[in-house]
This record gives sequence, structure tokens and C-alpha cells, in this order.
Amino acid sequence: MLLDEQGVVLQVNPDFERHAGHSPDQILGRRAVTLDADPLHGGFSLALEHCLTTRQPWQGVLLCRRADGTLRHQTTMIQLLDERPSGPLRLLVIQYDVTGMRERELHDRQLLARLGDTVARLPGAIFRLHQDAAGRLELLYASEGLMQLTGLTPEQVMADTERLLELIVGEDRQLLEMTLAQSMVSLEACQLEIRLDLPGGLRWVEARGRPQRRRDGSTLWDGLLIEVSERKEEEFKVRRLVSTDMLTGAMNRRAFFEQVAAVQARALRHHEALPLVMLDIDHFKALNDTYGHAVGDLALEDFAATCRECLRPYDLFSRIGGEEFAVLLVDTSPEEAWAILERLRQAVEEITLEVDGVIIHFTVSLGLAILSPDGSLDRALGKADQALYRAKHQGRNRICGPVDLESGGAGDKGA
Ligand code: GH3
Ligand code: MG
Ligand code: MG
Repeated sequence: MLLDEQGVVLQVNPDFERHAGHSPDQILGRRAVTLDADPLHGGFSLALEHCLTTRQPWQGVLLCRRADGTLRHQTTMIQLLDERPSGPLRLLVIQYDVTGMRERELHDRQLLARLGDTVARLPGAIFRLHQDAAGRLELLYASEGLMQLTGLTPEQVMADTERLLELIVGEDRQLLEMTLAQSMVSLEACQLEIRLDLPGGLRWVEARGRPQRRRDGSTLWDGLLIEVSERKEEEFKVRRLVSTDMLTGAMNRRAFFEQVAAVQARALRHHEALPLVMLDIDHFKALNDTYGHAVGDLALEDFAATCRECLRPYDLFSRIGGEEFAVLLVDTSPEEAWAILERLRQAVEEITLEVDGVIIHFTVSLGLAILSPDGSLDRALGKADQALYRAKHQGRNRICGPVDLESGGAGDKGA
């Protein structure tokens, strides 16, 4: 549109009708501000006033009304045309209809705000993690939930990712690095559980991420972090329950086999021999028969408690049968083992079980064998069982073991 000094429309271009929704006849000779949604106090008249008083161009978005009454957002530029100082002042007005763009932008903004609200209410945090070609990790984004999870704000962690990484328990950080390295190569989603060492105690967090490779060779993971402490606690409880004998609290046979394998794997590095012991209570059938099964159970409980007192927390103690137990002594030489077992034998001898004023004593026989780190547990248990059989045969309440140990000065001991 070309306007005169009073803002009256002198000319329009051929596209005017399509854009403004008015025919040229409707506007020529009239003031341009009639196009404004609010002709008197709308932005159009202010913009014209600005141009005329400052002699400067104006640019902005005006809300205009078409002939059919609909409102449109028009990006508007107003330019002053005063080629000849003496000639009349003219204003050139150029408009683009940006209603569609405005609506999309508004929609996007509302969508983002809603998403932001939703993300903030998630019971965890979502993140974007970046690893450069040198392996350096940087958190590019984390949602507000990070604060609840770690005590660190997203801003703190985005500024210095190490602050988050140093909360991870050492072992788990290695696991994280290994998992990311694998995921980086395979480009497959990864998932792991890590412990955070927080002022309030350890917290289990599950991390899941999906990788994508960037052109510069670095990798991005988008994913989420959720606290799983309660779930882990339940898992541990269940694992303890299924691996523990209810009466004595000793680990059951299956758990013993699993844990021995783990100890063997560790011992393999140092080629350590592992003392393995079978224990069987003496004349237990007679004790049951005389005092009843319930008293037998009490004896089993006392026996197990006494064994645990004589052993160290990391020794493996298992009830592998009715009144048969097995022990794997960790970090112990065969000679030390003999001394520990002798103390244990005496401690059992000293147990006093009182039932209805009657004091009951019982004893245990022990068979010692040596399990090599790469040896078969079944075979070593067989050897220990043979030694136990000899202990029973020689009069019970004694330890029998490999011949070289027995003849090496220690010998079978017992009452
Ligand atoms: P030995 O000195 O030769 O070992 O004689 P023993 O009588 O102890 O013989 P054995 O080891 O064969 O006997 C095992 C007995 O343990 C038989 C069974 O009634 C008893 N027993 C097994 N499990 C339990 C249990 O859970 N509670 C009770 N009270 N007794 C049990
Ligand atoms: Mg038995
Ligand atoms: Mg027995």
C-alpha cells in the first residue's frame, strides 16, 4: 500500500485483495488504519504516528481484520518515501500474513509448556548424555527430577558433569563406563543399575539410554533415570530368603555351590587352596529319639549359631543336609583351618541345651579336604565326606583330614 501523510491509501498492489481480504475499491481513498482490528487505538495508528514523528521506518506485527470479520496477524513494515525534500511525504506499507505461523508457534509453545509440566512430574529424570571421541562424558540436558534423585540441580550437573559422576560408587562407575563403551559400538539401547553415594545413604538408580552416533564420531544417549532402591531391597530380601535355610540361617546347598564358585574364581589368581569341611552332629538320631524333634531343632539352631561365632563373616557356612553342614574357609591355610576347626569342635562340645531342667550336650565330627581353585566342589565334598566317615569311625567328636595334615603334627583330635 502507498499512503499519503494522513495515512490515506493511494495505491495497492495486485496481491492486496488476497492478503488483506478487502477489494481495492473498499480501501482506496480511506485511511489504512481501518484495516486494524481496532482502528482507533490499535497498533496500526501508533505505528504510523511513530514513522511520521520520528521519520524512522517501523516494523512489527499488527492484528488486522478482513472484510469477512476474521482476524489475521500481519507482519508489517512501514517505510518513508521522501525522495524530493520539497515533494509530498509518502509511506510504503508492506504486509505478510503470518497468522498460520503464529498459530503454530503458539501451539508449539503450549505443547512445550505441557511437556515441561509432564516431565517435571515424572518419578525420575530424563537426560541427554554426550560422550566425545576421547571418552569424556557430558550431560547436555537433565530434567528437574534430577534434583530429587541426586540432590544436584540440572544446571549444576550440566555445568560440571563430574559432580554427578563422582557420586557413583566406584565399582558401578566402571560398570557404567563399560556399558556405555559397548552401547557406543553396538548402538543398542543400554540399561544398568548403579548406586549413588548420597549424604542420606546409598541409593539405587536404574539408567536406561538409547544411543545415536553423531557425524563427528561422538555419541549421544537419550534416556531416563529412575530410583529403584525399594525394588533392589525387595530383590535382596528375596535372594536372602531363597538362599537361606529357615531353621539355622545358614545358606542352603544351592547358594553354597554358587558362592563357592565365586570364591574359587577369586582364589584362582593366587592359586590358593581352599579348606573345605563337612560337619555332622554325632548321634543326632538318638538325641531326637530321646528328647523329641523340637529339641533336635533347638540343638541345630544352637549348633549353627556356635559355628558362625567360630567362623569369620566371609567364610561360607551352609546346611547341606538334615544335620550335615559344610564350611569353606576363605583366605585360610590348611594349618590355620585345622586350628579354627578344633576351636569349633570344642565350642560345640561346650554348648549346654537345657530342656525341662535337663542339660543336654552333643558333639560334632568334622572332615577336612582341600579344594583347589580350579577343582570340582563335588569331588572335594566327597573327600571331606570320606574324612568325616573316618572321624565317625574313630570315635566321633573329632577332626579328620588329608593324611599329610594329620601326620604333620596336628593329627586327629578329639575326646
Ligand atoms: P552319626 O553320629 O553317625 O552321625 O549318627 P546320627 O544319629 O547323627 O546319624 P545320622 O547323621 O544319619 O542321623 C541324622 C538324623 O538327623 C536323622 C534325622 O532324624 C535327624 N534330622 C535331620 N534333619 C533334622 C531336622 O531338621 N530336625 C531334627 N530335629 N532332626 C533332623
Ligand atoms: Mg548325618
Ligand atoms: Mg549325625
